[in-house]
Amino acid sequence: MKRFLAAMLLLLCVTGCTAQPKSYTADFFAMDTFMSVTAYGVDEQTAQDTAVTCERRVNALEPALSRTREDSDIYRLNHADGAVCEVSDDTYAALQAAVEYAAYTGGAFDPTLAPLTDLWGINTENAHVPAQAEIDEALTHVGYQNIELLGDNQVQLKNGAQIDLGGIGKGFATDAVAALLDGSCSVLATLGGNIGAYGENPSRDSGGWVIGIADPDNNADYLATVEVRDRSVVTSGDYERYFEQDGKRYHHIFDPATGWPADSGLRSVTVIDAVSTRADALTTALFVMGLDKGLAFCAEQGIAAVFVTADKQVYTSAQVGEVCTFTFLGEEKGYTYAQ
Ligand code: AMP
Ligand code: MG
Repeated sequence: MKRFLAAMLLLLCVTGCTAQPKSYTADFFAMDTFMSVTAYGVDEQTAQDTAVTCERRVNALEPALSRTREDSDIYRLNHADGAVCEVSDDTYAALQAAVEYAAYTGGAFDPTLAPLTDLWGINTENAHVPAQAEIDEALTHVGYQNIELLGDNQVQLKNGAQIDLGGIGKGFATDAVAALLDGSCSVLATLGGNIGAYGENPSRDSGGWVIGIADPDNNADYLATVEVRDRSVVTSGDYERYFEQDGKRYHHIFDPATGWPADSGLRSVTVIDAVSTRADALTTALFVMGLDKGLAFCAEQGIAAVFVTADKQVYTSAQVGEVCTFTFLGEEKGYTYAQ
């Protein structure tokens, strides 16, 4: 009898231990892009509750971060003619992060590029190369030092500055998702190009999540993967939003020093970091810095980044080996892993 009970217990344990968690995926459109959050929990209800709560949190950030919605804090701030505005906790926190990363990257990331993004009209029907005089005029209003964070959610924009949080919005949303998790579910959040992978991946023995780094020439395909856990993986690339005029591509990542799309010889930069807002700001900034300056910045600051150059070389900073497993897959697509 004892032996029978022991066998039953063993069987229960084995089936219990191998029981796969149930998953639920919430697909939605927010921040101008397709998003999905998949939660894995002990049962379907737990997974669904978690995924839906994450979706609601991201949707609730739209009025805090969007600059085109007329009911948003940023729209109100941008149209306040320099008056002091009170904003929500989320908007204030995003602005604090934006100013912090602008200073950290020496202004390569700058959240006051709205006059330039408007002028170039990328992703609108009005996309075109502006006159240099227009770019010069827009640049006179650009500079993160024009943002005054006065405490108590009070913000003032000086010198005709206008905010565009497009460079960190999705990272901020990914961190907001991560902050909701209490360990009851594993979650894979794909918020546009920003991915957050939290908890154990039930589909892999290692528990890690394998995230692809897109081939800039065909972003349905990958030229590398990184396996991570409890990290965010964020990519900025010239293939995401752009227009072509006279055979030349003009993309959406601007060099705040020139007012032109950054012409740094890069096609994409991916950053792997525990904080998605930071990774998001850094991908944009490293893209502007270019390969040499970007790699030096990563070495100095301990940043894990993957650079893809226009001449099909792939470089990884030293930190990449420490925070993830990097697998190069680009050889057949004509890329070289230059390390
Ligand atoms: P990302 O895809 O994260 O690199 O963000 C690009 C978006 O951020 C653009 O569509 C602009 O709205 C904005 N942006 C472009 N260049 C910069 C920059 N140098 N610093 C901050 N935001 C930028
Ligand atoms: Mg970014």
